[in-house]
Amino acid sequence: MEDCIFCKIAKKEIPAEIVWEDDEAVVFKDIKPKAPVHLLIVPRAHIESVKDLKDEHQSLAAKLIYVARDVAAEQGLNGYKLTFHVGREGGQIVDHIHLHLLGG
Ligand code: 5GP
Ligand code: ZN
Repeated sequence: MEDCIFCKIAKKEIPAEIVWEDDEAVVFKDIKPKAPVHLLIVPRAHIESVKDLKDEHQSLAAKLIYVARDVAAEQGLNGYKLTFHVGREGGQIVDHIHLHLLGG
């Protein structure tokens, strides 16, 4: 997706504070943090939202939670919130699926 901000961050075409990445996903700091630790776990694949997940995305979608678990541990968090906003009515602004990790 050419105009997608999270695709551009994943491809490093625009800057972000990336804290973890592999070939399938990237984790970076939210630009407007709503908690002392506010990270976004983002697959490199452009999937718009949870509503657009297909059966073939099952392992990728699960992976976002496991990445969140590992990054939260790295950040020294004992407790945290994991949130998906889904659609405008669910508060989603960026139409590239992402898992919010809020802690601290
Ligand atoms: P949503 O409401 O779509 O789930 O949340 C999108 C999140 O992305 C918001 O918390 C917002 O602050 C964050 N965000 C939007 N644009 C950028 C950006 O360009 N860089 C970073 N790091 N975060 C962004
Ligand atoms: Zn995208």
